[in-house]
Amino acid sequence: MIKDFEYLSPKTLQEALVLLDQYRDVYKVIAGGQSLLILMRQGLVAPEYLIDIKGLSELNYIQSDAQEGLKIGALTTHRAIEKSPMMKNGFSVLAEMEHRLASIQTRNWGTLGGNVCHGEPAGDPVPVLIALKASLCTVSLKGQRNMAMEDFCLDYFETALEPGELLTEIQIPPAPPHTGTAYTKFNVIESDMATVGVAVSVTLDSGDGLCRDSRIVLGACGPTAKRAKQAEEILRGKQITENLLKQAGQTASQEVEPISDISASEEYKRELVKILVARVGQEALARARQA
Ligand SMILES: Cc1cc2nc3c(=O)[nH]c(=O)nc-3n(C[C@H](O)[C@H](O)[C@H](O)COP(=O)(O)OP(=O)(O)OC[C@H]3O[C@@H](n4cnc5c(N)ncnc54)[C@H](O)[C@@H]3O)c2cc1C
Repeated sequence: MIKDFEYLSPKTLQEALVLLDQYRDVYKVIAGGQSLLILMRQGLVAPEYLIDIKGLSELNYIQSDAQEGLKIGALTTHRAIEKSPMMKNGFSVLAEMEHRLASIQTRNWGTLGGNVCHGEPAGDPVPVLIALKASLCTVSLKGQRNMAMEDFCLDYFETALEPGELLTEIQIPPAPPHTGTAYTKFNVIESDMATVGVAVSVTLDSGDGLCRDSRIVLGACGPTAKRAKQAEEILRGKQITENLLKQAGQTASQEVEPISDISASEEYKRELVKILVARVGQEALARARQA
């Protein structure tokens, strides 16, 4: 049962920040409520004040710029991203990822910012955002901060957000030429959370076609989505082949530390990583060649 709380609905970002500062130790922010309400119903979270930011239209936008890339307001819904015509030129992976996240009903209400701040290790957006080298803007009455998506998630459901702080924007830089990014997740029930999620990005040299940069990011394989850096090294500076991607998958499967849980055993997750890294890597490579 949900414990009683006081509901507050600020009309502006400034008003919200003042409330966050005022109720510093006893509030919880709610955006779409798709994750938070489950925790509240289970009695795992029981705030005295619920500060509803969903109505702050100033945090609901998608902007695209050739120089600066993509900027997505924290309150933009999954569905808006999935359907946005701006998800092209290297960003189509975001729309594809959103298409497989939950059901349409959940995507219509849940926000990208809420998903990121929830810190769920099996969430879909974070691996993709790390692969795309995204950064996050936060704000509090103390000022603004900017940090890499990669550094934001600290542990199971724990992020670098400080009390009094709101996530305002997700920034994704333009992809360098000849870059391709792809994502997939393995899940038993369609639109369910990932048993394992894999995002791969590769950047090829425009001259010799060798791999100049790569990111291999694994979701649901530990407390936070994480890069498989040894596997990335296998690709760097080489001609990417099917065999090389299989080697990268093998290395990634040894690098991660998944735990056995209700969705799969540790061994099964390692096997999934091995196969999916090679498979998603092929897709990223094909995209990089066309980009
Ligand atoms: C049936 C179902 C299936 C799902 N399947 C998937 C799935 O397949 N893949 C997946 O990735 N997710 C899935 N989810 C999770 C869900 O879609 C997202 O986590 C959700 O969209 C979170 O966004 P929200 O706006 O609802 O956040 P809320 O639930 O409102 O908030 C989540 C957390 O973030 C904090 N928060 C929210 N916004 C901000 C902000 N701007 N600044 C600071 N803190 C903030 C809240 O305080 C809370 O701690 C599923 C959820 C449901 C109910």
